[in-house]
Amino acid sequence: MRRITVLRLSHRVGRDERVTTHVGLTARAFGASGIVISGDEDRDVIESLTRVTELWGGPFEVRYVKDWRGYLRSAKASGAYVVHLTMYGLPLPEVLGELRRVLAEREMVVVVGSSKVPREVYEVADANVSIGNQPHSEVAALAVFLDRLLDGLVFRISFSDAKVRVVPDPRRKVVLRRREKALAEDPKPSDDKLL
Ligand code: SAM
Repeated sequence: MRRITVLRLSHRVGRDERVTTHVGLTARAFGASGIVISGDEDRDVIESLTRVTELWGGPFEVRYVKDWRGYLRSAKASGAYVVHLTMYGLPLPEVLGELRRVLAEREMVVVVGSSKVPREVYEVADANVSIGNQPHSEVAALAVFLDRLLDGLVFRISFSDAKVRVVPDPRRKVVLRRREKALAEDPKPSDDKLL
């Protein structure tokens, strides 16, 4: 089993749109299966992440939950292991082996905060894990966590049903579009506009 869901706590409309979107983009690109957003309900963030998944592929589930306590309770009751990313937790290298063993058998929920994180999150988490013990960002913390846990999956991951795909190139933006099937067989893919 390798199923990781990111729980974004305390999203605030008018303040966190960009960071919450980046948490979702990072979760998807680095190998998580979905994001659950709590706090203020924000259709724009959900739609923007859903649009990215429709264009660039999935599967990646995006949804809102009002009651994050209930969500965590039922995730734990179904066997999920909860990791809370916090600068106060144990350094990732100290717990990485155990987390990899857990991930082989159980779903994982990775919690990231925005403003002050309620104390009960520390208590309900199976592991409080730090990416260094300095304050930085939920996006950076999540990227490093997923990269280490999944051993660089971000460099190998592929997505099904993608409408577009980047062809890495040292100088140009090269993008293949799915409907242009011939291009996939063409040894010289065309330049495309920035997506
Ligand atoms: N001031 C908040 C608190 O006291 O809980 C934290 C705000 S921080 C900008 C937002 C989130 O980034 C945190 O909830 C945590 O998930 C993540 N984060 C920031 N620094 C981190 C670190 N060094 N290790 C792990 N996660 C971190």
